[in-house]
Amino acid sequence: MPTARNMATGGATQATNVVKETVKRTLGLLELGANAVGVRPFKQLRVRVVILRDEQGAPLCAMDDVRASWEEAQRIFSVQAHVRLLAAGPRVVVAPGPSPSAALNVHCDDGAWQEDFDLAGDYFRRNCAQTSTGKWLGYAAPVTVFIVRDISNKGGCSLGPLTNYVTLEAQMLNRARHRLLAHEVGHACGLWHSDKKENLMFPKGPGDKLTRFQVMVLRNSRHVTIV
Ligand SMILES: [Zn+2]
Repeated sequence: MPTARNMATGGATQATNVVKETVKRTLGLLELGANAVGVRPFKQLRVRVVILRDEQGAPLCAMDDVRASWEEAQRIFSVQAHVRLLAAGPRVVVAPGPSPSAALNVHCDDGAWQEDFDLAGDYFRRNCAQTSTGKWLGYAAPVTVFIVRDISNKGGCSLGPLTNYVTLEAQMLNRARHRLLAHEVGHACGLWHSDKKENLMFPKGPGDKLTRFQVMVLRNSRHVTIV
């Protein structure tokens, strides 16, 4: 038999969830309606890049190495989705001291998921950009891009909407892979892979396009907001 207390708590939680869901869907409908008549007001996405330091304390790259990838992400999100990429406080920072090996050399997919519960995840969470609304409500939470030394068999990695951070290999900033930062931030905003070569979410290559559906998913992400 459920106790009165459990029923009250459960009832209150359900009621709150119904309110949250209704508000979210109503706002979503308003935006869908606006999209249908060609109105797509600019929204904002806050991002910070954190460059890790190796065990001796040397930064994995120069702050300026991030510029081309940042500008490419800014261009893609603005042109494709009317989303403005903004710096969450400083645009690029260097980790305060030597970073743990667990965070310097990471994995992707299942490995990244496990590491999120371990030393690497703990380190990333402690060094993520924070805003008060992002922390407590998830609303307008910034995405933090950690520049790491090695991602096993990958150039970048994201756990999608599960975390507020993504990882990117330092050497990827120096190659002709400048759209990779936008690709990983796209994952964090709920986008999954596309099999179209010209698409930003195609796993490899220079694609920078987003479909109407992807634009809708991106713009509805908790990271992408009107103000
Ligand atoms: Zn990907």
